[in-house]
Amino acid sequence: MDRFQRICLVHYHEIGLKGHNRADFENLLIANLRFLLRDFPVVTIRRISGRICVFLKEGTDYARAEEAVALIRRVPGVARVSCGYKCERDIEVMAQAAIDAVRDVGEFSSFRITARRNHTDFPICSMDMNVMLGDAVSEAFPEAKVIMKDPDVNVGVEVVEAAAYVYALSLPGIGGLPVGSAGKVVCLMSSGIDSPVAAWRMARRGARIIAVHFSGRPQVSSASEFLVDDIAHVLEKTGCISKVYIVPIGDYQRDIALVVPPALRIIMYRRLMYRLAERIAFREHAGALVTGESLGQVASQTLDNIRATDAAVELPVLRPLIGSDKLEIINQAKELGTYEISSEQAPDCCTLFMPRSPETHAKMPAVLDAEKLFPWEEWMDDILETAEVHRYAEPGRH
Ligand code: ATP
Ligand code: MG
Repeated sequence: MDRFQRICLVHYHEIGLKGHNRADFENLLIANLRFLLRDFPVVTIRRISGRICVFLKEGTDYARAEEAVALIRRVPGVARVSCGYKCERDIEVMAQAAIDAVRDVGEFSSFRITARRNHTDFPICSMDMNVMLGDAVSEAFPEAKVIMKDPDVNVGVEVVEAAAYVYALSLPGIGGLPVGSAGKVVCLMSSGIDSPVAAWRMARRGARIIAVHFSGRPQVSSASEFLVDDIAHVLEKTGCISKVYIVPIGDYQRDIALVVPPALRIIMYRRLMYRLAERIAFREHAGALVTGESLGQVASQTLDNIRATDAAVELPVLRPLIGSDKLEIINQAKELGTYEISSEQAPDCCTLFMPRSPETHAKMPAVLDAEKLFPWEEWMDDILETAEVHRYAEPGRH
């Protein structure tokens, strides 16, 4: 049985967090963590002196605490998470906690202590704490050397008003802002590599995601829909996604392909997708559309075409990847955990009825002329009628 209560200490630092802003940020982050840790043995989650502390139940072992750390690291708004013990503000007791924390981490050959006191009412200054606790750990682990630069284990000690927190495991989080602090966005999500990364970047800045996937059904199989569902489940682990709308447009693409000159087709499909996404955004009270476009990456991602698609909607279209190279995006997709899913081939509406050489510089008059051939409003009503909505677990809905 552990001598001390096991805790995870969540550090956050977003420049400019002040006053009300700060309280909202903290409350939202606490609510999100509470929800995401619902299957963990958590007693309570509370704010303590510029940190959020997750108190784990008695008997929670280190392996389980490490799993909690792995989860917490990925939560938007978390700058760093540390795992250790809460103990009395008594230097002897703190030394015991430090020894326990270091023992949890396993094999190590060097260490240091990094102590700080948030309240000067604690009589021992941080320098002296470093020395005293360092001596105690050295005594317990005589083989281990004390080194200041890049030790195997850096033991953090934080003395606050009513208690001390001691930890030996500390890992960086993904930073950003808590989901929900920046409103909602509708993200156009293919099963490709880019759009899940774009959604994730927005989530990291506090936006809640509603994804819309246009499938080529019934002209192609529903394979891409399953991939998008798998991607949504990856995002779900960070509590950032509420819904995926699956919108089949295969028949409408066919109708467009039958009439519209090949060069203009992609622009037309895309304008249809944007308009449908905007309808959904209005319904969901979302403030913007998000796509995974990156300038010049494929033929349709030129400035002219971006302009032609943006002109179809009123809402701002955000493109968080516009200045990113493919390699950067791939690396982020790997980190996020969507890369393998996105690497599976599935035909979606984009592979359907593709012209051999798409227009790279759409001329608006030609686009508008071609559009007069179709009853858009009627189409959109019919299409949205057939849309399916998948829901995902999110904070606040439980
Ligand atoms: P991705 O890797 O996200 O599929 P891409 O490099 O394949 O992007 P495009 O096919 O030109 O590029 O698509 C650009 C953007 O349009 C996508 O990032 C996505 O936001 C949106 N989009 C494309 N296809 C679909 C679809 N079937 N459903 C929803 N959105 C889509
Ligand atoms: Mg694609």
